[in-house]
Amino acid sequence: MDSEVKMPQRRGVGLVLFPLPLQGHINPMLQLATILHSRGFSITIVHTHFNSPNSSNYRNFTFLPISDGFSDGQASTDDVIELITALNVNCVAPFRDCLAGLLSDEQSEEPIACLISDATMHFTQAVADSLKLPRVVLRTSSPSSFLVFIAYPILRQKGFIPITDSEQLEAPLPNLPPLKVKDISIIETQNPEQVYELVDAMVNQTKASSGIIWNSFEHLEHSSLAALRQEFGIPMFPIGPFQKVCPCLSSSSSLLTQDRGCIAWIDAQAPMSVIYVSYGSIAAMSESEFMEIAWGLANSNCPFLWVVRPGSVRGSKRIDALPHDFLETVSGRCCIVKWAPQQEVLAHPALGGFWTHNGWNSTLESICEGVPMLCRPCFRDQMGNARYVSHVWRVGIQLEKGLDRGAIESGIRRLMVSKEGEEMRMRALKLKEQVDLSLGNGGSSSQSLDSLVAFLSSF
Ligand code: UDP
Repeated sequence: MDSEVKMPQRRGVGLVLFPLPLQGHINPMLQLATILHSRGFSITIVHTHFNSPNSSNYRNFTFLPISDGFSDGQASTDDVIELITALNVNCVAPFRDCLAGLLSDEQSEEPIACLISDATMHFTQAVADSLKLPRVVLRTSSPSSFLVFIAYPILRQKGFIPITDSEQLEAPLPNLPPLKVKDISIIETQNPEQVYELVDAMVNQTKASSGIIWNSFEHLEHSSLAALRQEFGIPMFPIGPFQKVCPCLSSSSSLLTQDRGCIAWIDAQAPMSVIYVSYGSIAAMSESEFMEIAWGLANSNCPFLWVVRPGSVRGSKRIDALPHDFLETVSGRCCIVKWAPQQEVLAHPALGGFWTHNGWNSTLESICEGVPMLCRPCFRDQMGNARYVSHVWRVGIQLEKGLDRGAIESGIRRLMVSKEGEEMRMRALKLKEQVDLSLGNGGSSSQSLDSLVAFLSSF
């Protein structure tokens, strides 16, 4: 599907995009919308009331809210599986009505040609089928991590999941190198059976779609993409990293207000001296883990920019929980914010490393800027992403054994000031060059985007 097809700029084809309402899914969907709009498509974003995106930042798009069935304050990300399962039930009728309304508008100069839906909103395949509308899927995580979801039934059958045997954790996963048993996507929930149902529905309804758009690029995940092409037999469009194709920054789609004060702070730091610490939009930690991180950072002697999101420390109130002696020790060499302009921070010359939970967006954003990583995955696809970062692309090290201040301090030093860290930085910069090549004229992502534009125009 990746033949080189140059499409002229065109108007008149409408696309409906439907994101999963979580930060890590909203950002890439709106980036994709911006990319496709720049290629001549008109864009309608259908979205839930829960976590609704800020439409004022996207004046060229039409935003249509639908009911998600939650009353105010009822929806929460504490149990993501429960949330996604409920959305896949509650949104069926409102989404169908909304889409049917758009399709029946015969006066429209830009008739809807296709639905692009987040893979986790699997119910949309049946709705699109019933309205005879093609559906293309956006998968916001990596192709490599999707292979693990595809393997779920067999991993379950062979007794690898649920993970019960701690002796097995280091064992390699069959047919999924370099992943180990402990890298299987773990999703904590009240009802584990719902995980299997959700994964099953997501995989099957993605298979039933007309094609898949990936926020990744051939060079990074060639063998995983090849395996997926063989398994699914539908067109694949690895057009990423979106972050670099798209002229907009994630600030436009940020659900939280970014604290830009940290940019003035980082401006004053020496080149490549700062470690940036962020666990993304959902992961939470215990108070004791929080204190180990704090003292590990303090003892490393590195300047650090730390995102402490409200709610990210269970049962505690952010900075107020940090003791005086800690604040005194790090005075002048740290900046703590609730939410940062992450892409700008990662691109800053003073940045030397990124301590990340390895959400896919954060991982890619780091790769885009050539920043080596200290990996501390928490759940879902993050474990697999961290394994690829440390063992395949070799642009990071993983904190695998416990989260105590000594291990953190030595991990930070390895990343920031050792020869090993320097070599990782070199590899990260080489990978950044591959990003630029992929997106440049004739590069694989650029060709894939041309193919996607031609594909969407063909409906
Ligand atoms: N992000 C941000 N400011 C922060 C922390 C995160 O803008 O202080 C953005 C980050 O750039 C990324 C997204 O939030 O685009 C997090 O997505 P990711 O997939 O990394 O993790 P998730 O939040 O889904 O766990």
